[in-house]
Formats: sequence, C-alpha cells, structure tokens
Amino acid sequence: MSLVDAHCHLHMDDYKGDRGEVIQRAKEEGVVHMVTVGIDLSDSKGALALTQKEKGILCAVGVHPHAARRMGNDDLRVLEEMARHPAVVAIGEVGLDYYRDLSPRETQREVLIGQIGLAKSVGKPLVIHCRDAYRDLVRILRAQGAQEVGGMIHCFSGGWNAARAFLDMGFYLSFAGPLTYPKSRELREVFKKIPNHRILMETDAPFLSPQPVRGRRNEPAFVVYTYQEGARLKGLELEEWCLVVEENFYKAFRISSWGIV
Ligand SMILES: [Zn+2]
Ligand SMILES: [Zn+2]
Repeated sequence: MSLVDAHCHLHMDDYKGDRGEVIQRAKEEGVVHMVTVGIDLSDSKGALALTQKEKGILCAVGVHPHAARRMGNDDLRVLEEMARHPAVVAIGEVGLDYYRDLSPRETQREVLIGQIGLAKSVGKPLVIHCRDAYRDLVRILRAQGAQEVGGMIHCFSGGWNAARAFLDMGFYLSFAGPLTYPKSRELREVFKKIPNHRILMETDAPFLSPQPVRGRRNEPAFVVYTYQEGARLKGLELEEWCLVVEENFYKAFRISSWGIV
C-alpha cells in the first residue's frame, strides 16, 4: 500500500529534534512521497535543502499570503532561480487568506499574481492556500490564465460552487485532517461529489492533525487517517483509494512514478 502526503512542512523547526524518526515512521506506514512546502523565501530554502538530504521528499517554493507583506523586490527573481531545481515540483504555498488577514488584501493579491506568473514561466503547477477568499481566488486564477499550469487547492474547505470552479479550471482538490472532524459534515458532502480522479490527500503537518490524533503534533504518517475517511466516503477499499490518489498525485505534479524518488 502506497500513500502520498501531497502537502506538509517537514523542514520546519517543529521537527528539529526528531525529523529522522518522523520520516522513518512515515515510510513504515507506506508513505512514498511527501511534498514539503515553503511559506516564505528563507523557509523555501529550508524545504529545498531537505529534499537533498532525504529520499522520498519533494518540495514546493513560494510566499504564503501571511508573508506577502514581507516580500522584497528581489524575492521573485530568487524564487524563480530556486523553482528551476528538479526537486521543486510546484510553486507554493501561494494564495489568499482573508480569515487571518496577516497581510493587506491588496498585497496578498499582488504577490499571488506575481507568483502565478512565475509558475507559468518555469512551467510548474501551483499549490494554493485559500481561506474565506474563494471568490477573489477564482477571479484571479481565471484572469491570470492559471489553468495553463494547474495545481492543487490545498486543504480545501470551500463549498460545492467553489469546488466546481476549481475543477473546471483543471485544479486538483486536496483534503487534510479536517475531513475527519465530526463538525465537517458539509465538507464531507462536497468531497463525495468530487470526481475521484481529481482528489489529493495531505496532512499539512505539523498542523491540522486528523481526529484520532487531534491535539498532537501532526506528521506525514498520520495521512493514513485521512485516507481511511476518504476511502469510507467513496465506498472503496483503502488499497483501491491509495491507487487512485497516487495516480492523481503523479498527474497533478507531472512526475512519473519511477521518476525522482
Ligand atoms: Zn496553507
Ligand atoms: Zn501548509
């Protein structure tokens, strides 16, 4: 059984003391690919550095909407240089967060638009973070021709209308721990309606631990709980669901199963 964790932050300091063991546990659980995702320039450097130390780890580089206000004039050029590295499978996380509003919304939009341009120029897909901003996000993705590169909406938490708009543009929708939370009834209904071949599974570790391990630091091995819930909702055996998601993962990030790892 092969699992993938399409979005985590393994390079972060949360794993400083035991990163090797965390990766080992993931591999024992069957996790064959983990994408560790940057949130600003220096964090993205850390993500890329980890891919060079450990097998089975790929990365995305980008500036998160929370960090958009700290983006320097030269950052886009440096990001572009990093983004050409073969271990970088995507640009992210980028996006809009109108829930926490840690950067002015205008700045979030500008920084997102700049990075869509970057993704197009290096020909790699986007890893998108979005909270309470689906309408603006869909508008910007359409206006900037983001369907040209595609990618995934990570930890999708929107309704069916938003889901349909992203699916129409060719994006994959990725689900994390919240799919397993008792209160996520609506999200589970949306999940059931999404075509199987457009879904990814992730942890967003160290955040958003699935229900059985809620309250603890999350880690890639725990992606299995979200897979179990996904398989249950789709009426499939866990093994079947794993195969579906793995295939989606290769398509979303345009890597071959015998490729980088
Ligand atoms: Zn995020
Ligand atoms: Zn994340």
